[in-house]
Parts: sequence; structure tokens; C-alpha cells
Amino acid sequence: MPELNLDELLDLDRRHVWHPYGPMPGTQRPLVVESAAGVRLRVAGHGELVDGMSSWWSAIHGYGHPVLDEAARGQLGRMSHVMFGGLTHEPAVRLVERLVDMSPEGLEHVFLADSGSVSVEVALKMCLQYWRSLGRPEKRRMLTWRGGYHGDTWQPMSVCDPEGGMHGLWAGVLQEQIFVDEPPSGFDAYDESYAEQLREAIARHAHEVAAVIVEPVVQGAGGMRFHSPAYLRVLREACDAHDVLLVFDEIATGFGRTGELFAAGHAGVSPDVMCVGKALTGGYLTMAATLCTARVAEGISRGEVPVLAHGPTFMGNPLASAIACASIDLLLSQDWRGEVKRIGAGLSDALSEAHEIPGVRDVRVLGAIGVVQLDREVDMAAATRAAVAEGVWLRPFRDLVYTMPPYVTNDEDVARIGRAVCAVAAAATGKG
Ligand code: PMP
Repeated sequence: MPELNLDELLDLDRRHVWHPYGPMPGTQRPLVVESAAGVRLRVAGHGELVDGMSSWWSAIHGYGHPVLDEAARGQLGRMSHVMFGGLTHEPAVRLVERLVDMSPEGLEHVFLADSGSVSVEVALKMCLQYWRSLGRPEKRRMLTWRGGYHGDTWQPMSVCDPEGGMHGLWAGVLQEQIFVDEPPSGFDAYDESYAEQLREAIARHAHEVAAVIVEPVVQGAGGMRFHSPAYLRVLREACDAHDVLLVFDEIATGFGRTGELFAAGHAGVSPDVMCVGKALTGGYLTMAATLCTARVAEGISRGEVPVLAHGPTFMGNPLASAIACASIDLLLSQDWRGEVKRIGAGLSDALSEAHEIPGVRDVRVLGAIGVVQLDREVDMAAATRAAVAEGVWLRPFRDLVYTMPPYVTNDEDVARIGRAVCAVAAAATGKG
């Protein structure tokens, strides 16, 4: 196949390729990535950019890591995919064993899904089916707090924030769920009166609610806000008291990003169901998983339909499974906690300057996540220009300029990312 020159490629892209949350034909000119290695993306016309996004939380070990490359090569020599129905294989079984070992206590059974959104679909289906199986089909709604984000497929969209969120277009079409206020913003911002609101809402709606679903501690795409882990304990107690299941969506927060392997670890709380994705394969391939307790699995088994009716074509993909095993082993063999802490300290340092920029509302860092919130929306094209001028790739959205670098980012590059975040904030607020 002849190689495309840059203009041809961009023209075809603009006319035919639908980008996330993008119009057709495209109106923005995307950068063209030629290759990626370590923490750097090689971008046509711009040279190397330090990646501040880990490809949306996933590339925790950076790109082209020799250990993950080797795992991929080894598995390719055996099989890249076989169907999972009626067949199983070692990569999937080894992966599930690792996930069960490393996850919060009590999570014993694993459904291997093919994307984060699907793992949330499966989680919600598990919860509905659990109550149906126990003869309580009226428990069919979900309760969540506002400002959340759980994916773009149908049922996950219904538990995203219906106002101000990304899926407002579908109000009235999606299943109506129960929303409570979002917790006060801040990792240390525990407010007993808010906790009481949570307890009351769960008690009041328990008769119709199958499960509470939340992103623990970090609300990602819904606003990059941090919450006190203590609310997770409040949810656990209230759910236990009122016969409601608890689902944690750890798709963004899992695998160390917040400073604990899973964000639930900040509270020492186990959910009944947990979703993971993104960094599961170190960002190499699309794969996610839904874990549940024996209680949930046994409940489903007791039903009239005693199976979980879900089975994606690429379920348990051996190549993704083998890479996920290697990624988890690599993570756990290192001082990942130290590395995440180091990056967090570097970001805190570098972002401290953002406080001085007029128009900056808030600066927050948790684990290896840094966020600068502005008093206005960011113009994406101008933001990209400002970041690229600093040699960094960032993807701000709405009023947020944020970063979650790969854990292998060295101090110098963390500082550079921090400078770029400040430069984007300054450009967006007219101080650049
Ligand atoms: N839940 C959370 C918390 C997420 O951050 C995301 C992805 N941004 C999803 C679910 C959906 O995952 P995916 O994009 O892999 O479908």
C-alpha cells in the first residue's frame, strides 16, 4: 500500500474518520502521530512531544515498553485470538487470577469485557439480574451522585450526569436513574451533613434501587474532581443496611493512579462489583473487566435464567490478556507507589505557579494526577498550540487543563508537563 503524504492523510481523516465527540466532516486538524516510545509521541511536523495524558490514563508504563512488547511477541507466536465460548486459555486464566489477587477483598469472579463502557454495562446488568433472580425485579434503578462519567454506551450514559454532563442530549430517552448531589470537592473535604444526605437517599430509594454506582475518590471525565474517601465507607454502610449493591467504577483510577492500587484502597472498602479498564493492558489493547463477589454470582445463579447473558466476540482476547498479565507483573514488581508519589510531588511543584495566573480557580493534585481548573472554557486549538510549543501533549476539556503522565516519566519531563499545563492555562485566560 502506498504511504499517504500528510495532506492526503489529513484530508481523508477529515472527510471520513469520526473522532471522539467530533463533528463530521471534522473541523479540527488533529496532529498525526508517527510513532511512540517511552513517554514521547513522535508527531508529524512537531518532532517529539512528552505525553501528559498516558493516552487517557492507559499507558502507565509508557509506549513500546520492552517487557510488554516481548509479552505481545510471545503471545502472537501462539495465538492472537480465539473465541471464548466453549474454549478457555492460559492467558485469560492467569489474568483473572492476578485481578482477583490484587483487587479489594471479596471480589472473586471476573467477566472479561472489551472496553470500559462494556464493563460498566456488564456491572449494571449483573446488579439488575441479581435482584431479579432473588425475586425483586422492582429493584431496577441505579443511584449515583451528579457529575459522574461511566462511558458512552447506553446504560452507562444513564448514570452519567444528566445536566452539564456529556449525554444531556438523551434526557428522556435513557432510563431515569436517581441522582444525589455530588460530594463536596476535595480529598480532605468530608462533610457529615452531606454523608447524611447520602444515607437518607439510599434509605428512601432502597426499595427501587439495585445498586449505587460511583467513581471512587476521583471523578474523571465528569470534572476531574477529588472526593473524600470517607464517603465510600458511608456508601458501603448504607448499602449494607438497606440491601443495595455497591459498584465502584475504577476504570480511570485503577492500577495505582491515585496512590493506591485501586482508589477504594484509600477507604479500605470493598464494593460488590468493580469495573477496571484503561491501564489494564498498559494501554496496549482494548480490554476491561468486571469483578464481583460470590454473593452476586450466587444470586444470579439462583435465578430463572441462571447465566449472565453477555458474551462479546473478543472476550478474553489472549493477546490482550497476555499483555495485561505482563503489565500487572511489571507494575507490581516496581515501587509503583514511590513513582506515583514522585510524579505527584513534581506536579505539585510545577503547578504551584498556576495559582498566580489570574482566572485559575483551583489547582489540585492527587497521586499522579494534576488538574488546573479555570474560570472559563478552554479553546482546544489554542490550548494544543500552547502545549505543543512547550513540547508536550495535553488534551484539556471544558474549563480543565489536566495531566496524568505515564509512571515512567522522569522528573525533568514531569516539570516540563507542569510548565505546559501552566502555559495552556495562561493562554486560555489571556495571560499567555
Ligand atoms: N468509566 C470511567 C470512569 C471512565 O473514565 C471511562 C473512560 N473515560 C469509562 C468508564 C469508559 O471506558 P471506555 O472509554 O473504555 O469505554
